[in-house]
Amino acid sequence: MIEFPGGDAFAVAVFTRAARADALLPKAEAVICLAARMAVAGLIIGDTLMSSETAARALELYYEHRPKVPVKNIIFTHSHGDHFGGVKGFVTDEEIESGAVKVYAPDSFTEEAISENVLAGTAMTRRGMYMYGSFLKPGPQGQVSGGLGLSTSHGTSTFAVPTDVITEPVHEEVIDGVRVTFMLAPGTEAPSEMLFYLADFKALGSAEDVTHTMHNLYTLRGAKTRDAKAWSDYVRLAMELFPDVEIIFAQHHWPTWGNDKILKLMSDQADLYKYLHDQTLRLANKGLTPVEIADQIEVPDAIGKQWYNRGYYGSLSHNVKAIIRRRPVRAAVRFSSVVRSAFWSSVFSFVRRRISS
Ligand SMILES: [Zn+2]
Repeated sequence: MIEFPGGDAFAVAVFTRAARADALLPKAEAVICLAARMAVAGLIIGDTLMSSETAARALELYYEHRPKVPVKNIIFTHSHGDHFGGVKGFVTDEEIESGAVKVYAPDSFTEEAISENVLAGTAMTRRGMYMYGSFLKPGPQGQVSGGLGLSTSHGTSTFAVPTDVITEPVHEEVIDGVRVTFMLAPGTEAPSEMLFYLADFKALGSAEDVTHTMHNLYTLRGAKTRDAKAWSDYVRLAMELFPDVEIIFAQHHWPTWGNDKILKLMSDQADLYKYLHDQTLRLANKGLTPVEIADQIEVPDAIGKQWYNRGYYGSLSHNVKAIIRRRPVRAAVRFSSVVRSAFWSSVFSFVRRRISS
């Protein structure tokens, strides 16, 4: 049996990487799965991969190395299919319906999941095939990566309606004896998204908001355009709420250990999206068109030459155009005074509780 220094929170990284390399997973998943922490009573799964077949195999692999305790809780970090599609590889409908398993998800998760995967599902799946080169054979002359880590699997996609929807911007809960703080981050990489922090392990699950690439604000497959400014703001907020973080794990990539390294990673990513946002608008206000802005804009070396800020997945040119498209919508809707005051009162009460505890 494998022991993990610092506790089972660290199993996340180890098993995710192992699952991808396993010969029985011919199409390695692009998302994280497996235990955020193995409690005595059961497992907490942070995102469930894309297909039930690979999810079931990942769980099997986990049990080959760790005690066979049941899955008791599932956290969906956001409304994209590669983060929930494998859920039935971990649990059954009966387990959820009977209350034996809880499923946590961010506000509007079900609506947004249906919007992208059912209503626009056929079109987006087809476009996604071009985006990811799905029909290329894996290999040096074919597909080697999806840009955002390895590519996605082609198995059975499943779904579960959440039993516990997180609606407060910052919400603390004790799950199977583990303190979990959820932080909503709507309008970032997905319209419905949240990060989660395991205070006992100083481990931050950053969903898809802090990765090792410049992410895309506009996707070729046609997902909703993302808000660069909100993305940057929420990463900064996570830095303020969880300053003691010692491990950060994002579902598509390897984790980062060490407080200094993590805060630099988060800060550089927040700066990247903020810089693109601000400079795009500056040039737009000067009268340049989106194409001209994309040609002209350059990311300074201090931000752009960090490995994790390079455009392996997102492209600067597309991101600039996304910012032009997205900006008016966000200004009109997202930061209405009602939303803003609810947001900050929730943050303040969280900070107060943390200081007094
Ligand atoms: Zn993803």
